[in-house]
Amino acid sequence: MNSNIKEAMEIRKTAMENNKFFEDSIPLIASENIMSPLAMEMLLTDFGFRYAEGLPHHRYYQGNYYVDIMEEKVTELAKRVFKAPQADPRPVSGTNANQAVTFALLKTGEKIAAPNLSGGGHISAAKFGTLGFRGLDIHNYPFDENTMSIDVDASIKMLKEEKPKVALVGQSVFLFPAPLKELRDTFQEIGSKVWYDGAHVLGLIAGGKFQDPLREGADVITGSTHKTLPGPQHGIVIGNTDDDTWKKVQRGVFPGVLSNHHLNTMAALGITLSETLDYGADYAEKIIQNAKTLAEELHSLGFKVLGEERGFTESHTLVADVRKNGGGKNVAELLEKCHIVLNKNLLPWDDNKKSQDPSGIRIGTQEVTRLGFDKSEMKQLAELIYRAIIKNEDSNKIIEDVKELKINHKKVKYCYGDFEAYKYIELYK
Ligand SMILES: *Cc1c(COP(=O)(O)O)cnc(C)c1O
Repeated sequence: MNSNIKEAMEIRKTAMENNKFFEDSIPLIASENIMSPLAMEMLLTDFGFRYAEGLPHHRYYQGNYYVDIMEEKVTELAKRVFKAPQADPRPVSGTNANQAVTFALLKTGEKIAAPNLSGGGHISAAKFGTLGFRGLDIHNYPFDENTMSIDVDASIKMLKEEKPKVALVGQSVFLFPAPLKELRDTFQEIGSKVWYDGAHVLGLIAGGKFQDPLREGADVITGSTHKTLPGPQHGIVIGNTDDDTWKKVQRGVFPGVLSNHHLNTMAALGITLSETLDYGADYAEKIIQNAKTLAEELHSLGFKVLGEERGFTESHTLVADVRKNGGGKNVAELLEKCHIVLNKNLLPWDDNKKSQDPSGIRIGTQEVTRLGFDKSEMKQLAELIYRAIIKNEDSNKIIEDVKELKINHKKVKYCYGDFEAYKYIELYK
């Protein structure tokens, strides 16, 4: 009896240690966030043990009465947040949403325009990811490293030559709005459907602070719901397209790429969307202000932050070329030792072979903003990064200052209630 409980307790202990590590660290990974306690509570409900296939009131299993009520509510909230006629909150991740749209809009061998990896594109848009899995003929947009965006003129030329059936825009290094308005006439002329991957910037769009893809010509938006949108690890598709296309998208989701759609995370997403209606605009504005401040501070301390000619960033993300500081891998690992968590990243001139030791680092301000960081904390943070990387100060000294900076920032902001992060209930006594 209980002979393996040690193993279980080991896992539990590791989870608690991970809580403690993040409680005492500065989280700067641009694709992460922390959930509100009210949303988090949903993860522990019975929704997490149930199956629902299909759409509300058209199910294959019994026991979905409350699931239908919840799912309809979440769908309505998503439409309200994004001012969209169509929303499908079933995909279980951003990649899963991308699979559904790929499945719906394209057949094997058809052409798609997409960002390349070194231009900040996501693996799901690569030939060894989702698009490749569908066997698509991928044509990358030329990228301009000065503007840190798609090169509009060169892209128009490529689009007119290739006439892709679908044009996918949106990256994982997403510093500036995608040039949808500039490309709109071309998309119309060649008849491409426009697919906007908003995984990173969904919360900024929800807050009305980045761009408005549906009003700028996008037919569908896909996204993760846990990056700048501070919800559960889940996905979504949002649409402003004809009924026939939308039906295909919904069939792409189910039965195309999933069966059950993880109901507890969907409920948590609904709570996040509701909180976004109330706090999303203020939150998005502060995230972007903080990213600009951090970029300027790092730049003035001697870091080579990219996108200088456009003011470094208009999103939650900034990237720096750290080749002269020992390279992306070295810098990211050194900072981790100081409890400052960010990732190494490919920059426009890196080819994919450099992915284990690329030129850059990527920083996102969405999670620290949610914990109440403001201008003065951004300045202190830039100073800490400077001391770790340029001054080569002892990591133990920096950890102490990181903890000090974190000490008054343990509450999750921009949500209902007044709670400290990482105060979890321990169920097993
Ligand atoms: C993060 C990301 C995704 C999907 O991520 P998931 O981890 O599957 O939610 C898709 N596209 C882009 C551009 C991303 O950055």
